[in-house]
Amino acid sequence: MNGSTIKVRECSRQQVIQPCSLELFNYQIDPYIGCEHHCHYCYTLNQADTDSTGEIFIHKDIIVQLNDEISTLEPQTIYMGMNTDPYQPCEKEYQQTRKVLEFLAQRGFSVCVLTKSELIVRDIDLFARMKGSSVGISIAFQDEQVRRLFEAKAPPNEKRIEALKMVRQAGIETYMLICPVMPFITDVESLIEKVAPYADTIWIYPLSMEKEKDRNWQNVKGILDRHFPDMTDRYRQIAFSTSHPYWTKLRRELDKLQQEKGFNLKIEF
Ligand code: SF4
Repeated sequence: MNGSTIKVRECSRQQVIQPCSLELFNYQIDPYIGCEHHCHYCYTLNQADTDSTGEIFIHKDIIVQLNDEISTLEPQTIYMGMNTDPYQPCEKEYQQTRKVLEFLAQRGFSVCVLTKSELIVRDIDLFARMKGSSVGISIAFQDEQVRRLFEAKAPPNEKRIEALKMVRQAGIETYMLICPVMPFITDVESLIEKVAPYADTIWIYPLSMEKEKDRNWQNVKGILDRHFPDMTDRYRQIAFSTSHPYWTKLRRELDKLQQEKGFNLKIEF
């Protein structure tokens, strides 16, 4: 049993190591294709090949493939957690992420991993061996009932924060991603206060939508219509423009908070 009812199927594709769009990293690895957490705001829902409502794909012979692909690379930090959660429920059984970490550790690489799952504590031994690695947890809601509306299949916040605490106690660098900031719903300041004791860095990303027809916007709009009907139109203005005054004002407030309290914030809007 993998802890879920989702089907996990093997596939093979050309590259396991992909270029990474984040400034700090050259490469990323997603050990799975598709994500069981199925957060309703997730941008990957807009990609035609990642409809993860029914099935998840794993790379066939991932280590054989990695062995070929890595031969030309110098040891460096690889990002994991861009398009899928490396610790989604099926990882308990399939251990693709752990296999990748073991392989990278043997080759002298380090990782920067992002997840929503407490399963990450299983691999503390490997992160400790991979010097320069960091572990991040993402969170977007302070209220558990509201969280379940948007990301019912992901673990509760308390479990995530407890996991981050354990990782930090093990001497591994940690970060928290407050992502996405949902206007008028996410209380960014209270989340910062809550996680700051366990996170070396706190990154903050806005809810950012691209097209009205995209699945993630249609999902968010549906939840707003049902549960926060007076907010849908305001979201339509704010979520499609990172220069909207809502973000400018929040940015100012967070800059001030950072100056006053000395938090290590990275505000990405
Ligand atoms: S856990 Fe991350 S990758 Fe998975 S659905 Fe949620 S936001 Fe997307």
